[in-house]
Amino acid sequence: MTIRKAAVIGAGVMGSGIAAQIANAGVPVVLLDIVAKDNPNRSAIAEGAVARMLKADPAPFMHPSAAKLVTTGNLEDDLGLLGECDWIVEAVLEDLDVKRSLYERLESVRKADAIVSSNTSTIPLKLLTEGRTDAFRKHFVITHFFNPPRYMRLLEIVPGEAEPEKVAALSDFADRRLGKGVVVTKDTPGFIANRIGGYWIAAGLAHAIDLALDIEDADAAMGRPFGFPKTGIFGLLDLVGIDLMPHVGRSMRATLPKNDAYQKLGGTPPLVEKMIAEGYTGRKGKGGFYRLDRSGGKREKQAIDLVTGEYRPVREARLGDAKTAGAILQRQDKIGEYARRVMLSTLGYAASLVPEIADDVVAVDEAMRLGYNWKKGPFQLIDEIGPDAFAAALEKQGMAVPKLVESARGRSFYRVADGRLEHLTTSGAYAEVKRPDGVLLLEDVKRRSKPLAKNGSASLWDIGDGVACLEFHSKMNALDTESMALIQKAIDIVKKGMKALVVYNEGSNFSVGANIGLALYAANIAAWPMIEEMVASGQKIYKALKYAPFPVVAAPSGMALGGGCEILLHSDAVQAHAESYIGLVETGVGLVPGWGGCKEMIMRWMANKKRPGGPMPAISQTFETIAMAKVAKSAMEAKDLLFLRAEDGITMNRDRLLADAKAKALALAADYTPPQPATVSLPGPTARAALGLAVGELQRQGKATQYDGTVAGALAEVLSGGDTDIVDELTEDQLLALERRAFMTLLRNSKTLARMEHMLETGKPLRN
Ligand code: NAD
Repeated sequence: MTIRKAAVIGAGVMGSGIAAQIANAGVPVVLLDIVAKDNPNRSAIAEGAVARMLKADPAPFMHPSAAKLVTTGNLEDDLGLLGECDWIVEAVLEDLDVKRSLYERLESVRKADAIVSSNTSTIPLKLLTEGRTDAFRKHFVITHFFNPPRYMRLLEIVPGEAEPEKVAALSDFADRRLGKGVVVTKDTPGFIANRIGGYWIAAGLAHAIDLALDIEDADAAMGRPFGFPKTGIFGLLDLVGIDLMPHVGRSMRATLPKNDAYQKLGGTPPLVEKMIAEGYTGRKGKGGFYRLDRSGGKREKQAIDLVTGEYRPVREARLGDAKTAGAILQRQDKIGEYARRVMLSTLGYAASLVPEIADDVVAVDEAMRLGYNWKKGPFQLIDEIGPDAFAAALEKQGMAVPKLVESARGRSFYRVADGRLEHLTTSGAYAEVKRPDGVLLLEDVKRRSKPLAKNGSASLWDIGDGVACLEFHSKMNALDTESMALIQKAIDIVKKGMKALVVYNEGSNFSVGANIGLALYAANIAAWPMIEEMVASGQKIYKALKYAPFPVVAAPSGMALGGGCEILLHSDAVQAHAESYIGLVETGVGLVPGWGGCKEMIMRWMANKKRPGGPMPAISQTFETIAMAKVAKSAMEAKDLLFLRAEDGITMNRDRLLADAKAKALALAADYTPPQPATVSLPGPTARAALGLAVGELQRQGKATQYDGTVAGALAEVLSGGDTDIVDELTEDQLLALERRAFMTLLRNSKTLARMEHMLETGKPLRN
């Protein structure tokens, strides 16, 4: 069965976000809620939800046009719309009776083979389907999304009694189309992620109060050293809403067995009850464990004192050099004691729950990585500590050693055998960690092979079938001379006997652009010829990539900025992860794109068939995009800005990106000829003057600084074609020379250097 149309019932936080993600996948979706009270518009709740989403930041929709795929309605007038849907997701409030009475109504309206799923966080599936027909139960599962549904990758599915082929069809849709990492779980409270994550949070809170810890220390301990997000526990509670805590706690305590370790953590602490009562519910309220105090004209970040309940100024955490799990667990102070109590119990708890909540450790680790953004799951963390050291630490702390941990003594939960990743199963044997069909990970390629070439910033891998993969791996994948050298080397190697090149990596960001630290250093010692040579050789290498005798496919995910974006612009095709954030941001550091970004963008806009007559609209569009350092907030949006071409591919699931890019590269390789060198005719000084007028106006309105004008002026000179005449056809090399000249002029200005320094220090642009 194929899911061609879907419906979501309940247009609250989760339902509306799930509907948006279905629309992002290009699938029409019906969104229903109850009839709005005291409102002539009976569908106002669902309609309001879509309107709110169109304004929200971060945006649930990847492109405003996706909202057109959402049909809104209400549960009284529009129930009939459900008859056309292949999948109906229920995301109404967490109330068993409300959900049950809705399912009763669905029995008669749903298509015979439609799947119905609930987004419940806590209600067991067997309670939800009580009293339903056999046919309904065979089409019913739990699909537990995480908030926000567009950005959180985990989807837990509880299959219940549903037909396996229905579950398979739904999983496949969620994986390929919605981009989710699907983890199958058992019908147990909190499923996997919230069972373990909920325990971790409750333990983290209880022990911090017990030890009278400063929350900065607690959060630092529960952050980076274990590979958790730096929000730790208190920062996370502020983010998700402290008021959710008592609900989750009550529900967990009510549904878990009396002897479950969770029960021993106690109820909601009085301090938390008091905070909620006074409106300190976190970022959505007056503040939470942390707050920004604006009283008396100040802006002071404050933290709550867990003993007195009073706020005080935030201070640095006292972690010192304890940067790893091992180091922090060894510490002989309150912070070490805290880390031991929270993490030994949480990891021990996780180990005691397999196979009760999931068949294997792989599912548990995946759920914690995708649902809580942990870098490593619980069993990977135990491996990092060492199962023997972990068991000994549990014993020392007076805690029981779970059977599964006993079975890992003297070995590990994961191992590599013959280049394959294996995991320890509950039977005590190892089994291969299986990837879903069609998933290709560089991580796996690296385990089983040696690079074709490698230096400190990049590597080249053979990913099979004659395709090579160029991987950046410098800090934030900033591009430096070594990255450039490896691009050149990749071209030489692929040319000699391979079919195609894919540029891809598994870092959080494809590339944040050129390493400006290096350029700043060189500028500070006035090494101008060296810098100009860096710019020129970058231009040459990017051009070589474009005209290589084989296809080049770039496959970005996360940020592809500046020089990273210019790689995409010089590739034959791009296969982008839907969550790609692409832009030329050089003006933010007082520069213009210097590795062919201006050249490629102006040529794209000039060739864009959709633009109205004359060169000026194309020049203005390119100018605006680069001068304002616009960054597309999704791959779909990048198509509007022409950072991507209409025919470039988009992959929703991060894990499928490399396989899709490789397939694209092979398809292009079948009868490949490199592009023909292009020329462009630009109007020169007249266009430059027109752009200058527009910038002048922005300056008069106070929207651009004096120096913004200088940078924009240099950009205008490049995009208008310098001193050319409309009859001249400019070659790529002429445009590159203009880029270089503008770049070098700006780099000699102290205001550009100040912008670069500020960016390096704060990560934010300086508007000087
Ligand atoms: P919400 O309160 O934001 O939205 C619930 C929606 O249900 C509202 O739009 C409301 O109008 C509607 N509703 C109320 N009474 C109804 C009725 N009688 N019939 C039909 N609809 C009715 O809640 P939410 O946070 O979106 O949660 C929805 C579901 O998702 C719950 O089951 C919750 O446990 C689950 N969930 C929530 C989160 C989260 O982080 N918020 C995460 C995962 C799962």
